[in-house]
Amino acid sequence: MPSNDAKVNEKKYKYEILWFMVSMGTLISIESILGIYYISVGKVLTKTLFFSLATFLIGGIGAGPGAHRFFSHHAYKATRQFKIFLIFAQQISGMKSVISWCQIHRVHHKFSDTEADPTNIKRGLFFSFFGWLFIAPTPQYIYESNRIDLDDLFSDSDVAFQYKHYSKLYIAITMLLPTIIPTLIWNESIYVAFSMNMLKMSLNFLQLLVGNGFVHWDGPKPYDATSTATDNVLYNFITLGEGFHNYHHTFPFDYRNNEFSSLWYVNSLSTFFIDLCGLFGLVYDKKIATPEMIRRRVLKTGDGSHWIAKRKALKTNENDYSDENVVRSVNGSLKLESIAEVMKDVKILQEKLVCS
Ligand SMILES: [Zn+2]
Ligand SMILES: [Zn+2]
Repeated sequence: MPSNDAKVNEKKYKYEILWFMVSMGTLISIESILGIYYISVGKVLTKTLFFSLATFLIGGIGAGPGAHRFFSHHAYKATRQFKIFLIFAQQISGMKSVISWCQIHRVHHKFSDTEADPTNIKRGLFFSFFGWLFIAPTPQYIYESNRIDLDDLFSDSDVAFQYKHYSKLYIAITMLLPTIIPTLIWNESIYVAFSMNMLKMSLNFLQLLVGNGFVHWDGPKPYDATSTATDNVLYNFITLGEGFHNYHHTFPFDYRNNEFSSLWYVNSLSTFFIDLCGLFGLVYDKKIATPEMIRRRVLKTGDGSHWIAKRKALKTNENDYSDENVVRSVNGSLKLESIAEVMKDVKILQEKLVCS
């Protein structure tokens, strides 16, 4: 969907490196490498390793089932307590506030593959992967991000609270809490605990960034061939279930992000987590695309790689083959014939069988 204000489109894009973001990215990367070093030389206590894994998974929940499926797309409803947990998990990930996350993501969905798309794959894989974080956004993105509807989020007092106090919460919950817990409770070195927290944050970021680039780059498009979004099994594994992106762009309201993930949880730990919370009444009103909606969309706009499209392609009548020739044996000698001729003979044979 193109941006509809001509004046914005006429504005020249000013290429500018965001040095603050570059400095932050560099510092977090150096600390993350230090974290890997501490692991490799056995300086990290086992309890800290498990704690880092737990905070990494909580951050993943904050991004996937939280900021993405719940807050951006309202794919399911949840109790207030669970919603507050999702905001906390999102805060642990260190990936902006829920409102800022959803703002970027909603503009990405509405203006995919245009100048207003913040991670526009048409500007190259590098830009879409992580360049967009360190380069000034386009005038089209700034314009559309200020107009995108976020009223549902601003009217939620818990979400608005996080937005308003984000910098204080970032210092307290994202930076200090995961550093202080290992230091105070099981006497981990503060340097090790800090580096492990930065490593965890980098991995959460990588989950998001790899997706922005690779799932709009190359791969099958079973549901909508007009989109650059693709289904990517590897990325799906890395992000715990966010990789069936062609499906997601076609049915963004579906809480499963993948038509099979509630059948095969190995496909999506995020869907498993949402369903598990549903058992305890924390989550309800989960939305899905019906099999009929999926079938119609696959046949209408898919690229033919979906099994429904493949099965349909096999069930064609003889007219579909009128231009193709095959070699077949007639009375002991080989003959070149059109498939339409062969199909006629098959039909006569079938009628004979039915009559006999
Ligand atoms: Zn996308
Ligand atoms: Zn989405």
